[in-house]
Amino acid sequence: MREFTPAQLTALAALVAADRFSTGQSNRELHLKDISFHQGTLPAGVIWPVTTAEVAAILAWTYDQEVPVTPWGAGTSTEGNPVPVRGGLVMDLTRMNRVLAIRPADLQADVEPGVLRKELNRQCGAHGLFFPPDPGADASIGGMIANNASGVQTVKYGATKDYVMRLTVVLPGGRVIHTGCKAPKSSSGLDLTRLFVGSEGTLGIVTEATLRLTGLPSHVLAATVRFPDLASASRTVALMIGSGLGPAALELLPPGLIALMNREKDLGLPEEPSLFCEFHGISENHLQETAALARELCAECGATGFQSATGEADRKRLWRARHEAWETIHRAHPKKETLIVDAAVPISRYPEMVVFSQDLVDRHAVVGYVFGHAGDGNLHVVLVGDPSDRGEWSQLEAVNHAIVAEAVKAGGTCTGEHGVGIGKRKFMALEHGESYEVMKQIKNLIDPKGLMNPGKIF
Ligand SMILES: Cc1cc2nc3c(=O)[nH]c(=O)nc-3n(C[C@H](O)[C@H](O)[C@H](O)COP(=O)(O)OP(=O)(O)OC[C@H]3O[C@@H](n4cnc5c(N)ncnc54)[C@H](O)[C@@H]3O)c2cc1C
Repeated sequence: MREFTPAQLTALAALVAADRFSTGQSNRELHLKDISFHQGTLPAGVIWPVTTAEVAAILAWTYDQEVPVTPWGAGTSTEGNPVPVRGGLVMDLTRMNRVLAIRPADLQADVEPGVLRKELNRQCGAHGLFFPPDPGADASIGGMIANNASGVQTVKYGATKDYVMRLTVVLPGGRVIHTGCKAPKSSSGLDLTRLFVGSEGTLGIVTEATLRLTGLPSHVLAATVRFPDLASASRTVALMIGSGLGPAALELLPPGLIALMNREKDLGLPEEPSLFCEFHGISENHLQETAALARELCAECGATGFQSATGEADRKRLWRARHEAWETIHRAHPKKETLIVDAAVPISRYPEMVVFSQDLVDRHAVVGYVFGHAGDGNLHVVLVGDPSDRGEWSQLEAVNHAIVAEAVKAGGTCTGEHGVGIGKRKFMALEHGESYEVMKQIKNLIDPKGLMNPGKIF
């Protein structure tokens, strides 16, 4: 739907304060695009609720009026996840942005969905705690829950799903439910919390979450390790994890991407296939011992250099460059779009996936950077091109398709962390088979009118 009727406008305006509903063109356009190339349909309006009761009243009204609703966090998704494709109403959760409580004795925080992860970590830091899932962007907690986001520290700390204990969710029609509990464990009934984590706003709106926190590491060491080729770098990954060294980050980077980072950020790194690692320890001695063992293990795997960085400034510079890898690629290719492969495989299969992907990029003669969260078996291939050039873009799609098919064959997934959104829908049947039909049945049960974030996942 493109526009609301006058009667609908009157009804909507009565649901929230005057400054929290807009049909202005610029507000609608601001909620039309995430960071991907995926195209949406201009929403008829944008609404900013501030309480669970308001969200419930809005979803009761939209259900009655059969208006599609697309939830919006920080808009940093990569697959069109928060992009409205059937117009209707965008529900922007950014004004529900309070950290409601931090309970250091329980290692928990209660938050509203619009809290940004950096702000949450700023507040938790005062208690010596943090919320570890760390997508590069300053995403909202609601968006991270909806996408089951993760990041460079997932290899040690896990993904968002591992930190969500309890949710308040408003279902289509306005019913409010509370899932999970605040106890560290529970065997009570079906795990509805896990059902909503990763559901990308297709089942309801998260309005509150209880998150698990963990202690900030006292001693941290980062290292860059150079290898003669990507294959030997990626072979080291499973060994490093299997050895019990417990890396807190294990990232694979190719020379081409390091060259772009050097150019933009003046890092002065050798432009060779590399692993960026981080280790967390309980003492300086523990950390130095871990680093020595890691250096030895990397040398056995053919590493040609091991450079550690203990200083906070150096570490921050390194990780900032890694977090901004996608932006760096974009800036290096102005006026182009990116198609991001996000396949994940068992770590033993990671080296062959890396070689397979690099070979595909070379054979199709496309611009593509093969890197990823190697410690999680998560491979990102950022492919660069122009979607309006059908010839070029179909080559990118062919590479994307072949990598996903290979990952699924290896027992992996089409998306390790970015979610399905619009872009990965085409792989769902391939990956899930009959389970995808069960997912559709669950969707139909909770959202029989198909109004919640339509056009995503299903
Ligand atoms: C430079 C860069 C690097 C990135 N690196 C990573 C990475 O390493 N790992 C990773 O996992 N991701 C990464 N991302 C992707 C992105 O940051 C994450 O997917 C993040 O979780 C999106 O959060 P958001 O707040 O922007 O949500 P949005 O993009 O606004 O929305 C995401 C999804 O959540 C839904 N949603 C939002 N709020 C709610 C709510 N309250 N209730 C129900 N549904 C809701 C939306 O409808 C949508 O489907 C990166 C993005 C960028 C730009």
